[in-house]
Amino acid sequence: MGAALPRQRRRRLKRRALIVGGSLGGLFAANLLHDLGWQVDVYEKVDDDLAARGAGIGTHAELVAVLAGLGIAMDERLGVPVGDRVCIDRAGRMLYRRHWGHTMSAWANVYRPLKERFPASRYRFGKVFSHLEQTKERVVAHFADGSSAEGDLLVGADGLRSAVRTQLFPDVEPAYAGYVAWRAMVPDSTLPARLDEWLGERYWFVLPPGEMMLCYPVPAKDPARDGRDWNIVWYRPVTRELLENFCTDASGRRHSLGAMPPPLIRADVIAALKQDARALLAGELAELVERSQPFFQAVFDVESPRLAVGRVVLLGDAAFVARPHVGMGVTKAALDALCLSRSLQNLELEKALERYDALRGEFGRRCVARARRLGAYIEARSRPDAAWTPAQLDQSPERVLHETAASLSDIPELASLEI
Ligand SMILES: Cc1cc2nc3c(=O)[nH]c(=O)nc-3n(C[C@H](O)[C@H](O)[C@H](O)COP(=O)(O)OP(=O)(O)OC[C@H]3O[C@@H](n4cnc5c(N)ncnc54)[C@H](O)[C@@H]3O)c2cc1C
Repeated sequence: MGAALPRQRRRRLKRRALIVGGSLGGLFAANLLHDLGWQVDVYEKVDDDLAARGAGIGTHAELVAVLAGLGIAMDERLGVPVGDRVCIDRAGRMLYRRHWGHTMSAWANVYRPLKERFPASRYRFGKVFSHLEQTKERVVAHFADGSSAEGDLLVGADGLRSAVRTQLFPDVEPAYAGYVAWRAMVPDSTLPARLDEWLGERYWFVLPPGEMMLCYPVPAKDPARDGRDWNIVWYRPVTRELLENFCTDASGRRHSLGAMPPPLIRADVIAALKQDARALLAGELAELVERSQPFFQAVFDVESPRLAVGRVVLLGDAAFVARPHVGMGVTKAALDALCLSRSLQNLELEKALERYDALRGEFGRRCVARARRLGAYIEARSRPDAAWTPAQLDQSPERVLHETAASLSDIPELASLEI
């Protein structure tokens, strides 16, 4: 690290950051750079508050620490403690149990305090980034409404289908992993007491061959309601042809593979899932699925070759998307933002972005590789002809329960990297 810039000089310069994407990654960067004394503007495509979206997320000590650094406490408002991880079979027999002691949170519970903390006048909804131009001195973001903004730095935090990344690296496409995640949130208030009691405070796993179904409690999505929601995630192999069928709505219209609007998922596709739940899951978990309104998301891998090009950086899912088994999307985005702000605090812009690129590029590549390995046995079901090793196909409960969403400190290849 080079010498720190004198505080006075930093204040005089008052540099301006343009952040494309106002979800968690964008908001972590916005808050951290704002605290560093930058003028920060966030441009979000969606027209209104994002809090209604999102589902449950796992937390990591590192995420809690970044939030704490911003003065946001991970208290009961933000999380639900979960004691044990248990794997059961179709008959409900316990196959494996492991004490875990983790806090599960919900997307909106991280979004809300980050959003409230950032000046509302500098967060702009309904701004669709279209393209950028940059010189050695400045960067300009252009938006679909014809407006533009100029700054010293542009942060692409615009997610899986990042338009910023597409402009920098047109050949980088999200690669379909060969399976989908069926997801749902079921309020505990809608469950019969016996089912709620049976579910308890556990993180449930069921591992039908080549699949992974899990569910765990998270804070209720509706902040006006006390209690919990049950977050369901069920990874199921789906060939590309079948996915195209899933992405065709009842009127026959084909939607793009990564963007099937949940209300348009056909009733017969959902009915088949619920039927499979009855055949593959223990009765209580099948009942939970039955009571849910599930939607699916295709699982993708994304790897950007570089995270900094001139005055533009990629962050969060815009930079790398690791399959959700690492349970780290939000933590990775928070650590990207932390690394960016630390680098900018201590180094001149060019050196700072070089440092960011080197450190977060390595983290992202390792994270994607780990997540691919954890999902290989599911991918193998829809790509049986590929060469899979026995280790890749190992879906023993012990391995899956240890490695899925493990703590960062238990993953040496990630924990050893500097931020
Ligand atoms: C099944 C599943 C389970 C998951 N489980 C977990 C978990 O347990 N723990 C965890 O930490 N993570 C989990 N994740 C991942 C997590 O949701 C993301 O990694 C995280 O939200 C990254 O945030 P982001 O801000 O980088 O991207 P996003 O949240 O995708 O946000 C991108 C933002 O950019 C905006 N945008 C897009 N295009 C434009 C444009 N042209 N102009 C302006 N704005 C634009 C979008 O509207 C959006 O608000 C899971 C994901 C999936 C699919």
